[in-house]
Amino acid sequence: MFKVIYPGSFDPPTNGHLDIMKRASVLFDQLEVVIAVNPQKNYFIPAEERLKMIRIMVKDLNNVKVVTWEGLVVDYAEKTNARIILRGVRALSDFDYEFELSMINKALNQKIETIFLPTDQKYFVLRSSAIRELAMFHGDISEMVPPVVEQALMRKCK
Ligand code: ADP
Repeated sequence: MFKVIYPGSFDPPTNGHLDIMKRASVLFDQLEVVIAVNPQKNYFIPAEERLKMIRIMVKDLNNVKVVTWEGLVVDYAEKTNARIILRGVRALSDFDYEFELSMINKALNQKIETIFLPTDQKYFVLRSSAIRELAMFHGDISEMVPPVVEQALMRKCK
């Protein structure tokens, strides 16, 4: 069985993330979305809430599971017998960081490969940090995030 994990902060999850999840759920037998939690980091949305949001976003995708994980992503992959880490890439500027991260992960665990899916052009400029700022200034984010995320951000930023 071909299983892939898609790790990220998803703070907040966006339509770009959802697009990667939908496409991966078609390509692989099983997809696990891993909300990677770094206890040193301050997040905009608590991990438990991000977990609930993403579960709602993928409720119609039968082969997708969503978890939170406090630790190294490669350790989660090893523990759950996943051999592939999936990451999405937008512009070339993402690539530097993603390429380095993939090398670090490879050094940590040789058995686990990283693969990249290019963003759909509709989501080229979508990033969580911009959405956080827009939400704080009450900008319209309805085209950028799923309804469950928009509602949560509107409640948070009123
Ligand atoms: P990070 O793990 O660096 O905190 P994010 O949680 O923002 O990153 O995103 C998780 C993954 O999804 C990363 O591989 C990121 O490049 C990718 N991603 C983010 N936004 C988009 C988008 N609009 N289209 C495609 N992939 C995206």
